[in-house]
Amino acid sequence: MATTATVEIQIAVPDGITVGEYERIGAGHAFHVSWELPERCRCETCRRESPLQRVDKDKFLVIRDLDLWGQPSFFVYQEVYHRCRGCGHRQSLIPPFKRRDVKCTFRFEQYVLTSLIGSTAADVAERLGIAAEAVERIVKNVLADGGATAVDPTRTFDRLGMDEISLRKGHKGYATILTDLSAPSKVEVLAVSQGRDKAAGNACLNGLSPEQRSAVKFHHTDMSAAFLKSCATLLPNSQSVIDRFHVAKKLGEVADSLRKKTTGPTSAVCPSPTASASAP
Ligand SMILES: [Zn+2]
Repeated sequence: MATTATVEIQIAVPDGITVGEYERIGAGHAFHVSWELPERCRCETCRRESPLQRVDKDKFLVIRDLDLWGQPSFFVYQEVYHRCRGCGHRQSLIPPFKRRDVKCTFRFEQYVLTSLIGSTAADVAERLGIAAEAVERIVKNVLADGGATAVDPTRTFDRLGMDEISLRKGHKGYATILTDLSAPSKVEVLAVSQGRDKAAGNACLNGLSPEQRSAVKFHHTDMSAAFLKSCATLLPNSQSVIDRFHVAKKLGEVADSLRKKTTGPTSAVCPSPTASASAP
């Protein structure tokens, strides 16, 4: 006798998105989604704005979203085109949850950015099962957005984090990331800027209004003098907190460099630990 059970999956859904079917894709989860189509569209060729003339395609697109239960999840949606009444050009409509020409959601991009704090691009790529190039493209796209320009001026927060994230060599090395730490379980990216100096820190903070900056009570940074200076200048009412996480990282680095300094000479005169280790 067979029994059945209904399993409910709770996921956060971006505004304006409707989730339909669910299915497994390999070791991951796929959610079929649709969104409210705009009433009018602007033609990307002749720039004419006209009411949406919808052309449905029989093609489904699959893009990466956040992990669910430690496994990747995906949005699946049907591609919809608009045909321009002026010039006849057809263009694919970009859903509100992603940018053009990428295969992931905006919130996956944000997740990649916060994952880069304290990790290398290669580690993040491996953990998420994506290419290291994909990680860098995400950072590049967010930097190209202007990074700091999109902070909603009505938003409030009292605790910020400022960290450097490192990219591979040949990709201009470093970026500075400003995060909202008001709700520790939900770290959100506020701004990203190129470099890891005081100017990069200032660029991030200048994306906030003076009122928003005055309302900040605590800022968490690593021990970078540049970030401390930037926060001291632009966050007039905020106290600096050197994170346990950041301090641990620093201690780790110190321990690591000590180890590097000491293993050389000692290994020359001592047998290696593995060779001398004998179980009693
Ligand atoms: Zn047109």
